[in-house]
Amino acid sequence: MPRLQQILNNVKSYHPEADLELIKRAYEHAAQAHEGQTRKSGDPYVTHPLNTALVISELKLDVASICAGLLHDAVEDTSTTVEELSEEFGSEISFLVDGVTKLGKLPYSDREDRQAENFRKMLLAMAKDIRVILVKFCDRLDNMRTLEHMPVHKQERISNETMQIYAPLAARLGIQWVRVELEDLCFRYLHPDEFIQVKEAVAQSKEESDRYLSEVETLIGAEMTKNGIECSVKGRAKHLWSIRNKMKRTGRTFEEIHDAIGFRVVTTDIGNCYAALGIAHSVWKPIPGRFKDFIALPKPNMYQSLHTAVIGPRGERIEIQIRTKDMHLVAESGIAAHWKYKEGKSGVATGDEEKLAWLRRMMESQRDLKDPTEFIESVKLDLYGDEVYVFTPNGDVKSLPKGSCPIDFAYSVHTEVGDYCSGARVNGVIVPLRYQMRNGDTVEIITSPAQKPNKDWLKLVKTSSAKTKIRHRLRQDHRDKALGIGREMLEKELRKYGKSYVKMNKAGELATGARAVKCHSVDDLLCQLGYGKQTVAHVVEVLLPEDKRVAGRKDPDAGGSFTKMLRRVTRRSTSRGIKVQGEDGIMVRYARCCSPLPGDKITGFITRGRGVTIHTKGCTKALDLDPERRIDVEWDDEFIGQHPVVLQVLCADKQGLLATISQSFSDTGVNITQAHCRATDDHRAVNTFHAMVSDLGQLKSVIRALGRINGVYSVDRVAGPNT
Ligand code: MN
Repeated sequence: MPRLQQILNNVKSYHPEADLELIKRAYEHAAQAHEGQTRKSGDPYVTHPLNTALVISELKLDVASICAGLLHDAVEDTSTTVEELSEEFGSEISFLVDGVTKLGKLPYSDREDRQAENFRKMLLAMAKDIRVILVKFCDRLDNMRTLEHMPVHKQERISNETMQIYAPLAARLGIQWVRVELEDLCFRYLHPDEFIQVKEAVAQSKEESDRYLSEVETLIGAEMTKNGIECSVKGRAKHLWSIRNKMKRTGRTFEEIHDAIGFRVVTTDIGNCYAALGIAHSVWKPIPGRFKDFIALPKPNMYQSLHTAVIGPRGERIEIQIRTKDMHLVAESGIAAHWKYKEGKSGVATGDEEKLAWLRRMMESQRDLKDPTEFIESVKLDLYGDEVYVFTPNGDVKSLPKGSCPIDFAYSVHTEVGDYCSGARVNGVIVPLRYQMRNGDTVEIITSPAQKPNKDWLKLVKTSSAKTKIRHRLRQDHRDKALGIGREMLEKELRKYGKSYVKMNKAGELATGARAVKCHSVDDLLCQLGYGKQTVAHVVEVLLPEDKRVAGRKDPDAGGSFTKMLRRVTRRSTSRGIKVQGEDGIMVRYARCCSPLPGDKITGFITRGRGVTIHTKGCTKALDLDPERRIDVEWDDEFIGQHPVVLQVLCADKQGLLATISQSFSDTGVNITQAHCRATDDHRAVNTFHAMVSDLGQLKSVIRALGRINGVYSVDRVAGPNT
């Protein structure tokens, strides 16, 4: 039994006092229980638990984990029970086996919620005892290594599950070599053609890259020795899956990827790490923005290293990672490196408890979530969404969620910087605000007093604090605008009666009036006017007794037309159907020059005394208006109303055609309010119809219906009633 001996040797090497007898007994129990069973490969079944335990011993885990590895399929596939294991091997081992068995029973499907459920169980198991997950990883690794004996559909299903759950989890736990091997194995089954291509390309260039590898290794080593740094240098080709992803991401061919090899310098202490970095940077030109200090800022999975990229001896990019021996152990085995065997006590070393805090936080946050897909979203963020570290121009570090843009950065510096953020320079180059920041970027925010947050920013930012601050500012702006509109309306109305807004305000008359219409303050009153919650007419009635209103009237064109005008304003003005800067309730009117319909692209202009006027985006009249008064508006989809529109129909001048045309209008549910018909000299007729439609869709269907009529030459929507 050479494999068992290998396991025992491994365990002895990192834990001399280990209870090797227990391991042997566990093996014997497994061998007996699986007696007569075979793997798909034809091998005796027990080779699988043995291989699993071997990987566990390579992760340097404790005796209980090794035994659990040997016995992990005994409960599932043989007559052995958890109780028997508990009696024979103790509760610790039986607990681990039970955990692995339960994990294995989880059905997997591509459906998100299933996957979420799987994830949740995995994490629950992990929170109880991370060894359950580690044993499961080793079990999965051996299954992946022998996957070729499985039917194709199972290969695909198992590879999918591995790629989506096990590999990212291994990465998150920092067990690098397991992750790398799992990904390459999945690659082979999920994208067999690409796998062969990449594999062959790597094999073909092997001789050349080996030569290159040892050349650069020697070169780096010599520079370090020359400067008195004790270290080992190792170059290593990246794994196939990451090469494939890099090719996909950059659109380059294998030959064009020059950093498929990374170099690692492992030295004695942290001081030497920085010294080694200094040497590398003084000998070769560093590539800006590629230096990352994971020693000062460890990754959540405890990974530490200095990363840099330099222009190497042949003018190509070289990636170098610099770390201490301890850090190297963590880099390779992650959480497993922290799982040290301790006499009479099982569990994570106390110092590591803290480092596992993210796990606990994740478990706690999922307690409030009812929906599994919501849970997986939050976990995915945590698993895949590493943070990006970026620098201020002073060299301070900010950590932001991946995908953050300069606006996030600006708000993280200061609310004011965010509010006035008009652009950004990243590594000295101007970038758009939608730019997604990358690790190591140096970000400088450009501010402008004319800038202010807009609604689109909400789509760009990733951090919730930036979102909150933008929303607050938008609401503030919105109120300010309503207040301005309200004041203009009231001022104008008061002027008609020879009254001064400023004087009345000073005299406290406005404050009294505001209270009379149940407003907290004059500002509140003006806002309500702007939002259309109060009408100017009503407020003026309250402010001025009736006799004053008539006597003091000074408006030159007022005469009897004032009431008429008021009626006109109130009739055409509406607060329905339109959202001004995302909110409804603001007084609007539709411009007659272009008669916008729901479905048309629109823009709004603040108008003295009349709220906001809505034009279509292309309206030539709107182009002449003061852009300072422009305001974002959109259709309120929930509101259904009728809107005027004018159609010009050119048709043959023949009897009965007009009846057919008006029939088409009523067939499509459109009411004609006015019609003009005029015959031309060339026996044609020009008809102008004023009609009411609900939206652009209805207009289009009536235009289509009219166009189909025999004898109709053209149907056009004309800009407005006046043209
Ligand atoms: Mn198994």
